[in-house]
Amino acid sequence: MSHTHVLHRSLRQTPPVAVRGQGVWVYDSTGRAYLDGSGGAAVSCLGHNHPDIQAAMHAQIDALSYAHTSFFTTEVAERLADRLVADAPAGISHAYFVSGGSEAVEAALKMARQYFVEIGQPERRHIVARRQSYHGNTLGALAVGGNAWRRAQFAPLLIEVEHVSPCYAYRDQRDGESAEQYGERLAQELEQTFERLGPGTVMAFVAEPVVGATAGAVTAVPGYFRRMREVCDRHGVLLIADEVMCGMGRTGTLYAIEQEGVTPDLITIAKGLGGGYQPIGAVMAQRRIVEAMQQGSGFFQHGHTYLGHAVACAASLAVQDVIRRDGLLARVREQGAGLRERLERALGGHPQVGDIRGRGLFMGIELVQDRATRQTFDPALSLHARVKREAMARGLMVYPMGGTIDGRQGDHVLLAPPLHHHGRRTGPIDRTPGRRHRRRHRADARLSAA
Ligand code: PMP
Repeated sequence: MSHTHVLHRSLRQTPPVAVRGQGVWVYDSTGRAYLDGSGGAAVSCLGHNHPDIQAAMHAQIDALSYAHTSFFTTEVAERLADRLVADAPAGISHAYFVSGGSEAVEAALKMARQYFVEIGQPERRHIVARRQSYHGNTLGALAVGGNAWRRAQFAPLLIEVEHVSPCYAYRDQRDGESAEQYGERLAQELEQTFERLGPGTVMAFVAEPVVGATAGAVTAVPGYFRRMREVCDRHGVLLIADEVMCGMGRTGTLYAIEQEGVTPDLITIAKGLGGGYQPIGAVMAQRRIVEAMQQGSGFFQHGHTYLGHAVACAASLAVQDVIRRDGLLARVREQGAGLRERLERALGGHPQVGDIRGRGLFMGIELVQDRATRQTFDPALSLHARVKREAMARGLMVYPMGGTIDGRQGDHVLLAPPLHHHGRRTGPIDRTPGRRHRRRHRADARLSAA
């Protein structure tokens, strides 16, 4: 038993103690430097200790740290919402600020439900999501996600959610099937699911525009999201785009869904919204949804103590300013192309690399036992956990996850480096993966970050 009173993710190993960050580097208490190749879990989009973000946070703390949202709004929350709405897909008119991704998903689900109650369609209650997905760890969000091992032991507590096939071309697009035909097949599945659940009973279809934590940056085939949007429209179902991981510039546009040419009804964002400087998430909502609540009960029947926290909003506003001021979206597109090229050059021919995929600075590498058959590794090997451990032992943070979709998906590694680089490494990188260091990281990656 280790000497800690913190309940860590792993109850067997205590992780290294992070004491300092600078740009793309994180330092532990022994002075070791770790290159942050995944922004934690695609969070630290501006790296660590960015001076502009810290200055904005200090200024807000000096003025006002917190005011409860049932009494006040704040200037920073208003300005942040203005900024996010100005750059959001057409019709998105409001931002609802929470403290993270799971909270954003919970709020989006409740907003969808309240919307239908307000407009006189209370029979709409079903949620449809995809098997290859992660939408958070609170009970509602966990129910929506399709990640089997995360759900397993909590299944009796979860609300019923219908799961359809993901868009996962690497394994599911059939030989001789065009992207168009594949997308059409998935659209038909969604349509049949809506029909089976009953006309007028489905409230929302939830999907990540680029799948993150469950699958390692899986993009949809061209036209897939347009087809899903059409099916939702035909059935009066809201489309919720979960951009908690892929949003806020990570894929080269502020919202990843922009690249699909469709407009969602609700968008959830978090991670890159505050860049890890403060915990913050948001639901971006279409005007007609907000108006229905405004004209109906007059309020959104939901809330948490830390909604729109002023320091979190200040940090996020500064992150958003830097993204725009430094032209980071164009930079992501450019650097993303370079990253892909380098990954393909370095790993494209590796016998255990099945697929290299992603968009912008959001890349995934799927590991397989056999490239030809795409055979996955035995889950008992926990290969992804080993990759994480070995990378950490060499001073590199990447974000690996195991095969979890019907046992068909290989282990994968997610890369999500900062969108730009500030600051230099100021300490040594200890490249000798010593025994003690290794032992410390032998945590089961099933417990690794969400
Ligand atoms: N949705 C998606 C797409 C995510 O990737 C995550 C986190 N990995 C969440 C929701 C949950 O966010 P949080 O961990 O901030 O609660």
